[in-house]
Amino acid sequence: MTPAASLDDRGLTARRLRLGGRVQGVGFRPFVYRMARREGLAGWVRNLSGQVEIFAQGSIPSLRRFTASLIDEAPSLARPVLLSVAPEAPSRHEQFAVLASDATQPSDVHVPPDQFTCDDCLRELDDPSDRRHRYPFINCTQCGPRYTLIDALPYDRPNTTMAGFPLCADCAREYFDPFDRRFHAEPIACPNCGPHLRFVSDPDKSVMDDTAIEAATAALRVGSVLAVKGIGGYHLVCDAFNPAAIAMLRQRKRRPHKPLAVMLPWNDWALVLGSFACPTQIELGLLADPMRPIVLVARRPESDLPEELAPCLGEIGVMLPYSPLHHLLLERYGGPLVVTSANPSGEPVLTSNAEVEARLGSVVDGFLHHDRPIARPADDPVYRVAHCKPQPIRLGRGNAPAECELSFTLPRPLLALGGQMKATIALGWDRRVVVSPHLGDMDTPRGLALLRKTAEDLQTLYGVRAEAVCCDAHPGYGSTRLARRLGLPVVPVFHHTAHASALAAEFSEECGDWIVFTWDGTGLGPDGTIWGGEALAGGPGRWQRRASIRSFRVLGGDKAARQPWRSARALAWEIGADLASGDAPNDQNIALLRRAWEHGINSPPCSSIGRLFDAAAAVLGLVSVASFEGQAPMYLEAAASGNGRVVPLPLTRDAAGVWRTDWALLLPMLLDERESRVSRAASFHASLAAALVAQAETLRNETGTTRIGLTGGVFQNRLLTETVFDLAQAAGFSVFLPERLPCNDAGLSFGQLIEAAACC
Ligand SMILES: [Zn+2]
Ligand SMILES: [Zn+2]
Repeated sequence: MTPAASLDDRGLTARRLRLGGRVQGVGFRPFVYRMARREGLAGWVRNLSGQVEIFAQGSIPSLRRFTASLIDEAPSLARPVLLSVAPEAPSRHEQFAVLASDATQPSDVHVPPDQFTCDDCLRELDDPSDRRHRYPFINCTQCGPRYTLIDALPYDRPNTTMAGFPLCADCAREYFDPFDRRFHAEPIACPNCGPHLRFVSDPDKSVMDDTAIEAATAALRVGSVLAVKGIGGYHLVCDAFNPAAIAMLRQRKRRPHKPLAVMLPWNDWALVLGSFACPTQIELGLLADPMRPIVLVARRPESDLPEELAPCLGEIGVMLPYSPLHHLLLERYGGPLVVTSANPSGEPVLTSNAEVEARLGSVVDGFLHHDRPIARPADDPVYRVAHCKPQPIRLGRGNAPAECELSFTLPRPLLALGGQMKATIALGWDRRVVVSPHLGDMDTPRGLALLRKTAEDLQTLYGVRAEAVCCDAHPGYGSTRLARRLGLPVVPVFHHTAHASALAAEFSEECGDWIVFTWDGTGLGPDGTIWGGEALAGGPGRWQRRASIRSFRVLGGDKAARQPWRSARALAWEIGADLASGDAPNDQNIALLRRAWEHGINSPPCSSIGRLFDAAAAVLGLVSVASFEGQAPMYLEAAASGNGRVVPLPLTRDAAGVWRTDWALLLPMLLDERESRVSRAASFHASLAAALVAQAETLRNETGTTRIGLTGGVFQNRLLTETVFDLAQAAGFSVFLPERLPCNDAGLSFGQLIEAAACC
């Protein structure tokens, strides 16, 4: 890549370099400056929208070492890609300078996710002689908020939510000193010029800063529930070992069962965690990953961790402190705290001080506010480890916007709005796709407003205007209705083909056809029925439904998703049986519902594995009415133990040539009370895993394909996923599960975009 050198009369030569990738918001320009000074080079570096441009002159060996160092020694947060090196005539430069950003160029913008507090900043936070000792907004070029703070690009302070905090003389000195760790650290702040904390427990009284942390921890100690403003939104916080405080949080939030995440104090965190959970090495590594996600780990059954944190579940979501405020709060508190998103059910997390006071006034005993505005919300990312691999469950602060590189060039910029639940937005252009953080469910006005804002926001941030918009083919989804109002050509994509395409595009280096099992709760299929247990063969743009399960009519349409007893009844009626167990709430007129069901009123046909899980959980008496999405399958998985007995399920071809697994024999197994509930739950999982592999083997005989994918929300179930993995690998299949994006509906936006690109 070294260009022909032309030396001037001083023996100097010059080069112009361009670097792309993640080079903004990560301390890259100061790093370039230091490398140039080390090699004694003259010239300049500047931001060029998303890229960095460098003019450097010096001796040929120094230029060579300099160029190599830009990649080899880059700051830990940077992901530089050398785009071009061109020879230039040497000029009169004598020094090396950092020039102002050039915002006039078309962009190749990279927006970094929010970064956890780095070790250097933690040391200063803890150092009584440092001017930022115990300052909750300490940051540097290697850490601090990014995505949630950037109003516009280029990433310079006036374009962030720190614009309203003019730098003091000390901060300005650091900001403009190329040898300082905070040289061009855009969110730089100190107690003299930056944001402040405020604790409010009574409308007329508030305390500031360290006293605010003191007052907040004192309140937590007596069992209070607080709203605490973090990086991407507010959290509800209480003592994780105080069952009464947890019960109060649940009662006031009307969140009776949904699992709550726990944040550990930084000191000896692994020891603290080990006292109530048994994390694996992979889970420990994931907890300390720079994105600092919530990780689901197995609980120690004998520990004194309150059952109320995650009733009926064998796992608990834990995370480490990631902002200086969390470090200070947890350290002062000295024990694990419940730290859960402060959002009304299914809605986006709350970010504004006034809105939080208005909407959570009756829920919390106090507010720990700060005055750094949040430009856009980001929930905490969530991971679970399955088959020794980290599996993303939710994108958010720390891992979003997620960057996906394509193996092909998109013919035009595309926007994709995802589905109805767990929505994300994907924006794609050239060979890049960025996927937004989790935006919540689209059945509330706030969810839809955020979807609309984020659609606009992503295009503005990245300087890309979409020329078409992709959405789910379901006409009733809020995201579909929004897509039709954007004034762009609309490309509807069927739910399960989007799931399958998302998976195939993640593993685009795998050539040839796939068999992808898309198992989830609900999605509209091209035949107008509800799908959710499909095996699709082919690849993006040419998926064919080759296998499914025996169709049944769900009782009450969409209501079934929240009321598992309806699925139990429907399965029983479908095979002419009846349920003796009183699983339905007393106020339901079963006879009337049965007549409606028999006449097909509000009882659409479906092939959903998610509803099979619901039915099984209801039949086993685990959940008849769910208080949060996914409760029934989660409880069923947690209830299972041991290997389980495989009930062989018949696989036959229907009139349309689709192979159908008949689930009917599962019902007598589930109802057989001679077996324990634990082993019936295990047998249910084992039987479905065996049925999946039987379908795969049948399709392999027909198509020769040995590569299978597992996607759709059902595969968040670790027991099922790992059982399928083991069986399928033993049967000679290579098995793939999404790794970059969630297998649930958060991955739909990316899949819609891939599918749309393949079809047009
Ligand atoms: Zn730092
Ligand atoms: Zn300052």
